[in-house]
Amino acid sequence: MDDGRVKTFRGFRVQHNNIRGPYKGGLRYHPRVDMDEAKALAFWMTMKCAIVDVPFGGGKGGIAVNPKELSEGELERLTREFARKLAPVIGPDKDVPAPDVNTNAKIMDWIREEYEAVTHTKAPAVVTGKSIEHGGSQGRSEATGAGGALALQSILKTLGRDPRGMTVAIQGFGNVGSHLARYLKKMGCVIVALSDSKGGLYIPRGIADLDAVEACKEKSGRIAGCYCVGSVCDLSNMESLGGKDIQPEDTLTLPVDIIVPAALENAITKENAGKIQASIVLEMANGPTTPEADEILAQNGATVIPDVLANSGGVAVSYFEWLQNKRDEPWTEERVFGALQEKMEAATTIVAETSAAHKCTLRDAAYLVALERISKA
Ligand code: NAD
Repeated sequence: MDDGRVKTFRGFRVQHNNIRGPYKGGLRYHPRVDMDEAKALAFWMTMKCAIVDVPFGGGKGGIAVNPKELSEGELERLTREFARKLAPVIGPDKDVPAPDVNTNAKIMDWIREEYEAVTHTKAPAVVTGKSIEHGGSQGRSEATGAGGALALQSILKTLGRDPRGMTVAIQGFGNVGSHLARYLKKMGCVIVALSDSKGGLYIPRGIADLDAVEACKEKSGRIAGCYCVGSVCDLSNMESLGGKDIQPEDTLTLPVDIIVPAALENAITKENAGKIQASIVLEMANGPTTPEADEILAQNGATVIPDVLANSGGVAVSYFEWLQNKRDEPWTEERVFGALQEKMEAATTIVAETSAAHKCTLRDAAYLVALERISKA
């Protein structure tokens, strides 16, 4: 630590399945990280890679730490040490980590550097989600949000519904939630509520300026209170906008058309599932709905667009980054988004068709598609 003390942290890496290709999955820095969480997340990665049809298996890992309590130097030393410990078990054709909750391009760059130093190789494809200067892909940071918007658009089409004017509440305003919000707004949806771990805001007539809210969150460290008119964001604007502050857990039970859990697992449980008023649940987080809650949502007629489909745009673009690194061939942003659109449309179509053919939920259909592909690999 900066003050000279030595502190020990626990890190994890789970390799679930590599039948279709190298293990693939993010690294999370969060106090709740443990072996059970990493195992569940690795399993979902195996399913997701098969559904979006990229030649990867499933892995996941992370460190049990609150990175917000570390200085930049402490975070770097912790990451580099973790990378040295991981080096024997990861590699471009073995296991390829990526960012997840509280990890980002800078952290991936450190891991690449450390891996290359330990193995004496040039291996940009050992991790994805790197910065562009260090071998990252155009569009990677927006990819998961962009993919979620494409999945929603396709499913709404099958339901004969128009996204324009549909109201949306998003829980979690990090990488995934913030990009998704912008894509949904572009599609004509009205974003009425946003929250982070500390709280949130609800403006029934719609949050007009997402950039101002994001800048306000960056400045104040929280989204609650970011009632913005132009560049002026403060609580005194709240009443004029007809808004109110909300608790993070209230985001999902607001009277809206679409809810988006985009934070952590187990956000929708048997305790709150019955209170959900939205008819569409777009699962951008991994594992946001418990099995009991899933049944309640199905009984109540909600359409759940499952995590393994909805957030698979991230790993699709990770695959494009890995390909670009392997071929030493950078792609333009246009090419990346074109390829992402193709992947998301193909995945959504096969899942929707399987759901119709088997008269089952989109989640069960997604698993059917994944298991079929894995069994044939
Ligand atoms: P992030 O760290 O950038 O953001 C997480 C956000 O969730 C933060 O705004 C945090 O304040 C908020 N949050 C935490 N607990 C909350 C709570 N109880 N209520 C409301 N908000 C809360 O992480 P991210 O990369 O955006 O990942 C979010 C989810 O999406 C995770 O489940 C992750 O596994 C999943 N995911 C991420 C990617 C990716 O490309 N980053 C890809 C697929 C899936």
